[in-house]
Amino acid sequence: MSDGKPRIGVFKYSCCAGCEFQLIFFQKHVLETLGKVEIVFCRMLQSGGVEEGPFDVALIEGTITEQWQIEQLRKIRSVTTYVIPIGSCAVCGGVPAIKNNEQEYTIQSRVYEDTSRLTSIRAHSVDQYVPVDGYIKGCPMGERDLAEFVTSLLLGKRPEFIQYPVCVECKLQHNICVLVAYHWPCMGPVTNAGCGALCPSHDRECYGCWGPMKNAHARALANRFAKMGLSEEDICRRFTEFGEPTVEWKPGQVRRWDVVQK
Ligand code: SF4
Ligand code: SF4
Ligand code: SF4
Repeated sequence: MSDGKPRIGVFKYSCCAGCEFQLIFFQKHVLETLGKVEIVFCRMLQSGGVEEGPFDVALIEGTITEQWQIEQLRKIRSVTTYVIPIGSCAVCGGVPAIKNNEQEYTIQSRVYEDTSRLTSIRAHSVDQYVPVDGYIKGCPMGERDLAEFVTSLLLGKRPEFIQYPVCVECKLQHNICVLVAYHWPCMGPVTNAGCGALCPSHDRECYGCWGPMKNAHARALANRFAKMGLSEEDICRRFTEFGEPTVEWKPGQVRRWDVVQK
């Protein structure tokens, strides 16, 4: 720490950068809390900065899709006390991991005429490459969990992140359950809360953007979707829209979502 302030580095990999925008635009109390720390590296906030560390905290945004990112991530890990993925891309693969549903070349040639100079690899979450010390979930990341983490860091206590499904927030909003009432394929039961049940509160189903909830019973929900008439392909798509297909949904089972500890 310098001047008693924790040193924070913010690193961006493959993503839309929406989580870094959140960091900048979060409500007043988060910015006030961030004033108690020193952001020593964040390309979106400043030019320059101390890229090589050491850091008390590294906030990592984005999915890992290139070899140089893995190497940099390992270096960051070696000079950082707390490595925290922020947002669904870094936490569980997010939107970029949709590409893992197809062969790499098939995806590349669908987008680019000339693929000869592409160096991208399969899309994976940060914890596939380095140990992490917690997750700030959301797409974009949630304000409540970020404030909890920074405050806990300053107080020297263990942060308590939200770990219950969107359904809990949905019931607190007194919403009609669109899964039960309308048979819409709502991902709320297996998705980590934090958004305030935004979509069911606006008359549409949850599509899982905050990523998997710890100990979610994905198989039961997949079976429910199948009974509602969704094809295997549609169910697979539902479960991999915001997470890498290490979910590996096969007929009759959803492996990772049964055991995921995120
Ligand atoms: S988690 Fe969502 S908002 Fe954040 S970088 Fe990824 S796509 Fe963008
Ligand atoms: S609408 Fe979706 S999120 Fe809300 S209670 Fe029903 S299943 Fe859960
Ligand atoms: S998709 Fe689900 S997790 Fe994402 S904002 Fe909507 S209700 Fe929340």
